[in-house]
Amino acid sequence: MKELKKRVVVVTGGSRGIGRACCAAFAREGADVAFTYNKSAENANTLLKELKKYNVRAKAIKADVRDYNECQSVIKKTLNSFGKIDILINNAGIVKDKALFMMKPDEWHDVVDTNLNGTFNMTRAVITLFLKQKSGCIINMSSVSGIAGIARQTNYSASKAGIIGFSRSLAKEVASYNIRVNVICPGYIETDMVNSLSGDIKKSIKESIPVKRLGRADEVAQLCVFLAMDKSSYITGEAIRIDGGLAA
Ligand code: NDP
Repeated sequence: MKELKKRVVVVTGGSRGIGRACCAAFAREGADVAFTYNKSAENANTLLKELKKYNVRAKAIKADVRDYNECQSVIKKTLNSFGKIDILINNAGIVKDKALFMMKPDEWHDVVDTNLNGTFNMTRAVITLFLKQKSGCIINMSSVSGIAGIARQTNYSASKAGIIGFSRSLAKEVASYNIRVNVICPGYIETDMVNSLSGDIKKSIKESIPVKRLGRADEVAQLCVFLAMDKSSYITGEAIRIDGGLAA
C-alpha cells in the first residue's frame, strides 16, 4: 500500500526543478497532485501527462504566488477538483543576486514578494481549512542561505530566513490542531536556478561542498515526502538542511 494514497498535495512552482521532482515523488507514493506554475505552461502540460501515468489525479493551475487572490483561487480550484487538501508545499521561489549597493528596490521586492509573501499567501489561503479539519501538513522551501549569509544574496537570504521564522511561529500556533509545519533548507541543487551560474562559479561551488557534488532535485523531493508521511508525525517546527554538508 502506497503511504500517501488518497492524500491530496498542493505544490507551488511545480513546473520546474525541485517542485517538479516533488510532484513526481508524491504521485509515485499515490498522492493526488495539484501544482501551480507561473510562466512555464508547456512544462506544466508535460508534467501533467507524466503524473497521470502514476494513476493519480493531477491538476495544473496557473497562479502567481505574489497575488493573494490567485492563491485563494488555487485552494478553491483544488478543493473543487479533489474535494480535500492534506499537504501544502510552498516551493515557488526566485533569486535575483546582486551586491546590495547595486540592488534596485524592485529586485529586493520581487524576491521577498515571491519567496516570503508567496509563502504567506498560500499558507493563509489553506490554513482555515486545515484548522477546521484538524489536520494538515505544510512544508516550506527555504535555503541554507536562510541560515547562513551568502554574499550578494541579501534579498534572497532575508526572504528565506523569514520563511524559517514564519514556519516556527506557525508550527507552535497550530500544533494542537494536528497541523505540522516544517522547513527544508537545500544547499546547491542542480536545477535551472543553479544551472544559470557560470561554469567557473559552479566548479568552485562544487569544491566548497563536502560531498563534492551538487544535490539532485529528487533528493530534496524524498525529504519532502518523508516530512509529509505519518513516519515524521513528531517532527514540527523544524528546519532541515539538505546540502551535502555545506553548512555543517
Ligand atoms: P527553479 O528556478 O528551477 O523553479 C522555480 C519554480 O518556481 C518554477 O516552477 C517557477 O514557475 C516557480 N515560480 C517562480 N516565480 C513564481 C511566481 N511568482 N508564482 C508562482 N510560481 C513561481 O527553482 P528550484 O527548483 O531550484 O527552486 C525551488 C525552490 O527551492 C525555491 O524556493 C528555491 O529558492 C529553493 N532552493 C533552491 C536551491 C537550488 O540550489 N536550486 C537551493 C536552495 C533553495 P514558472 O517556471 O512556471 O514561472
